[in-house]
Amino acid sequence: MNIINQLKQAYLIVHASDFRQVNINPSACKLLKLNAEKILNKDWKEIFVPAFTQSKVQDFAELCYNGLNLKLHFSTLEMDGEQLLAAHLEPQKKPMANADFFYSLLDNLGAYVFCKDKDYKYTYANQLVCELFKKPASEIIGKTDCDFFGEETGKKLRLEHDSPIIEHGKITKHEERNYIPHLDEYRYYLSVKKPLFDDQGNVNGLFGISIDITEQKNLQKKNFDNEQELSTILDNAGAYIFIKDRECRFTYINKRTQELFQLESDQIIGKNNEELLGDVQGEEFSRTDRQVFTGGKRLTCIETFQLPDCVLYYWTVKIPLINEDGQIDRFIGISTDITEQKELENNLLTANKVLNEKVSEITNLKNELQHQASYDVLTGLYNRRYFEQEIERILSQKRNKPLVLLMIDADNFKRVNDQYGHGTGDEALKLIAEVMRSECRSDDLVCRYGGEEFLIILANTDRDNGFIKSEWIRQQINIRSAKLSPELPTLSVSIGIAELSVDEDDFDQLYKKADYAMYQAKKQGRNCCVLAPLDDILEQEKLCK
Ligand code: GH3
Ligand code: MG
Ligand code: MG
Repeated sequence: MNIINQLKQAYLIVHASDFRQVNINPSACKLLKLNAEKILNKDWKEIFVPAFTQSKVQDFAELCYNGLNLKLHFSTLEMDGEQLLAAHLEPQKKPMANADFFYSLLDNLGAYVFCKDKDYKYTYANQLVCELFKKPASEIIGKTDCDFFGEETGKKLRLEHDSPIIEHGKITKHEERNYIPHLDEYRYYLSVKKPLFDDQGNVNGLFGISIDITEQKNLQKKNFDNEQELSTILDNAGAYIFIKDRECRFTYINKRTQELFQLESDQIIGKNNEELLGDVQGEEFSRTDRQVFTGGKRLTCIETFQLPDCVLYYWTVKIPLINEDGQIDRFIGISTDITEQKELENNLLTANKVLNEKVSEITNLKNELQHQASYDVLTGLYNRRYFEQEIERILSQKRNKPLVLLMIDADNFKRVNDQYGHGTGDEALKLIAEVMRSECRSDDLVCRYGGEEFLIILANTDRDNGFIKSEWIRQQINIRSAKLSPELPTLSVSIGIAELSVDEDDFDQLYKKADYAMYQAKKQGRNCCVLAPLDDILEQEKLCK
């Protein structure tokens, strides 16, 4: 056995009784591309059966094993009283004659090539057919498909695929789906079959060539399934989804988009916006379509679609798609109908506008009320309420300048009313107020304190300047009332002037001083100004009594 292992020729030795392996030498393993350890005790029946054809041991046989054409030289030998069989495996390397070249070509074509006679028996099977049937060509030739595919499939193949060629001389091209028993699976083939003719021109067989397209078919099915899944998702999405090319023509639309146009898919695909919607409406969509290509970026926009009786609004996202060459040649658009939201937004804007109008109306009313609360209706001067608030505020602040209070009372006003009527009396009060307003500065505080009595706070003014100012006001009232209506009596006022020094903050005291001075003015015959004396408070109170 050692000698056999060292031989360069490939040898395989088995038990003659059951073809169980006794030895396979390294050269044979190499030739058959097998690993010796993994095939211990293997039964080699398939190799040795040809040695026993016609009930006697043959010297040699040809066999196709694992796609390898082998010539087998058989011999018998005896070891320890047991009969063994030896096979010398010789790869066939015959010089290539034309026919050999042709057969080799068919074997390496990557397709199943076969010929059948008019009884549907194989007359030729190339290497791939042998591998498919797991039989050497010698065991295929003379057999029909029933021997390999089973009776039922064999008959079906004959009737459907082979008989048109054999019986009618047709050339056929078709797809076949065949069950392969030893693989226990169905495989798909694309077959072309042509008739073969004898010398008399009668069909005497067929030539067939088949390509296994199972993988493509599976891929096709997978693609179909994927496509179906995707289109189910896209068709049921709540948005309008579409793809457009560089000419802004639709190349894909989902079901919702198709329903929007109320056209069949093929009436939309290949068309642009203008062709489908007219120039004006088309341009509304085309403008942003073109921007995707020029800008090369994803963009979002609000688009409008004008219907005869309303406008629809869409929130649209347009995303460029880049092809294998890195160019943007399409974009995908996803549009959502936001008409309802837009309507709500518009309603909200209108409501907001109405609300703003109401707010400004209320603000005006409030201002008016505020005005009414602070001003005297007849003269437009500040009223007593406002004056008291303001004087409170002024006195609470730190002052470093003197301040003067003028108390002004119209003289003999009762008589004015009595002689000329209340209306004229009102006009007279207005004139007095107007003189005071026009002669005072903006930071002075001029107020109608009640009836025909007025108070003025002169800011940053001492008693001497206060007196000068009072005199001026008094004279202006005389002059302007005389000018206004010569038929009326000249109006006059009596004014009492009191100064609040920088560190004082008692308004009551100041009021009393001014009031005292004003009464002094009345006593002195009216139409004059009197300064309150500089005595201390107690003394003034005494005077008041
Ligand atoms: P004296 O010089 O002493 O102040 O005399 P007098 O008449 O002005 O003073 P008296 O207090 O007696 O009268 C004040 C008058 O002022 C009485 C009142 O009818 C009048 N008067 C007060 N408020 C108004 C007003 O809003 N309109 C008019 N027309 N008269 C008013
Ligand atoms: Mg009075
Ligand atoms: Mg008076």
